[in-house]
Amino acid sequence: MLNNKNKLTPILNQIMQRNVGEKEFHQAVHEVLGSLSPVITRHPEYADDALIERLCEPERQIIFRIPWIDDNGQVCVNRGFRVQFNSALGPCKGGLRFHPSVNLGIIKFLGFEQIFKNALTGMPLGGGKGGADFDPRGRSAREIMRFCQSFMSELHRHIGEYTDVPAGDIGVGGREIGYMFGQFKRLTNRYETGVITGKDLLHGGSHARTEATGYGAVYFFERMLATRGHSLEGQRAIVSGSGNVAIYTIQKLISLGVKVIACSDSNGFIVDEAGIDIDLVRKIKEQHRSRISEYAKLKGSSVKYVADRSIWDVPCTIAIPSATQNELTDDDARTLVKNGLIALGEGANMPCTPEAVHIFQEAGVLFAPGKAVNAGGVATSALEMQQNASRERWTFEETENNLSKIMHNIHDLCYETAEKYDMPGNYISGANIAGFIRVAEAMQALGVV
Ligand code: NDP
Repeated sequence: MLNNKNKLTPILNQIMQRNVGEKEFHQAVHEVLGSLSPVITRHPEYADDALIERLCEPERQIIFRIPWIDDNGQVCVNRGFRVQFNSALGPCKGGLRFHPSVNLGIIKFLGFEQIFKNALTGMPLGGGKGGADFDPRGRSAREIMRFCQSFMSELHRHIGEYTDVPAGDIGVGGREIGYMFGQFKRLTNRYETGVITGKDLLHGGSHARTEATGYGAVYFFERMLATRGHSLEGQRAIVSGSGNVAIYTIQKLISLGVKVIACSDSNGFIVDEAGIDIDLVRKIKEQHRSRISEYAKLKGSSVKYVADRSIWDVPCTIAIPSATQNELTDDDARTLVKNGLIALGEGANMPCTPEAVHIFQEAGVLFAPGKAVNAGGVATSALEMQQNASRERWTFEETENNLSKIMHNIHDLCYETAEKYDMPGNYISGANIAGFIRVAEAMQALGVV
């Protein structure tokens, strides 16, 4: 938490006043600035020339209309966003989210987090994020295509290989990226593969990009457990969500000897004490785009489907929340600690409330934040950009090897930075400080821009 006496407090207050009602953005800024006072004490020059104020103000925020026609011939209107938050280290980079909850504050929180996450990868990437308040659930493939085309009809003027490179996020997977890349190509008459990542292999995508966030999370987690002499083998895990991040986290955990017993979607969760059958989850979610309740229907009475409780009531030793922000509350944290949790890594962006994080830290649970744990997705997007620029295609194994090295480096950087600043084992401070230093130095070297 922020020390009231330090010089960051007035900056934080000013940010709250200038960004009224953007509660997720406030939460993210509070968390990052809350870690910075030891760095500013050692390096007061990082606060010179209003560097922190500039860091918390996006370079550019674009809000636009997305008109499109549904299958009944009705005109629908959604709102689109792209926030180009900081390009000191490279072109802005961050995903697009299609979900009815999307608003400017959520996109700003995600874009702000992305700056530090991208810095932690050590790659030349700035931070940004975008999306729309469009709900893809229940929409036909044709409707999704028309929506993506209309979205890109505006977005294409603001992005580019050297400016801003979007990717997927909640509600945006390979299919949607394909529709958007198709529309970009049509509008610009350029086969500019470096303009978007998460493409399929036919259009310059990278092997392992689909798996990268989930696999990367597990590589990080494994290394974190090892710092206390634990291993993954034999652990009992819960992974919330059943989308891209959750599916490939579960798949990798299972391959390393973990029993994953529960996962969820926004309607409810399943508990399979025999261990989740990940191929069945993939079939239900990726092929049939159906609800997780289907899993219980197909498996019969050995599986419980629960719609009126929290998934975190189920006892486990490790947890990787991988659905959405603030999905895990203080009550959930208390229950998890009581039930014997030893470690939690955030697969999603900011899935734990600040109160929940505090409870984990007080209880001595190993805890790592999303900006470190889920950085494998953007890191592999950077590998996709490298392959596009050199017109190469690496094998799955080469790409996954690169990913695992990057995740181990991110882990070690966070761990060592926390030690260096006298907060051993505090991955939140380690990630925020290490990411901040890299961005601050890049910003300083560019002058006041
Ligand atoms: P997907 O759209 O593939 O899956 C999201 C999952 O979370 C779905 O199971 C969805 O259920 C569930 N979910 C979404 N909103 C809610 C909600 N309000 N309450 C409960 N469950 C919800 O998204 P991703 O897997 O790509 O993203 C998950 C998280 O990981 C997000 O925080 C994202 O920002 C983060 N992330 C993703 C990366 C990537 O490479 N994809 C990279 C880094 C971070 P339902 O189908 O019912 O909506």
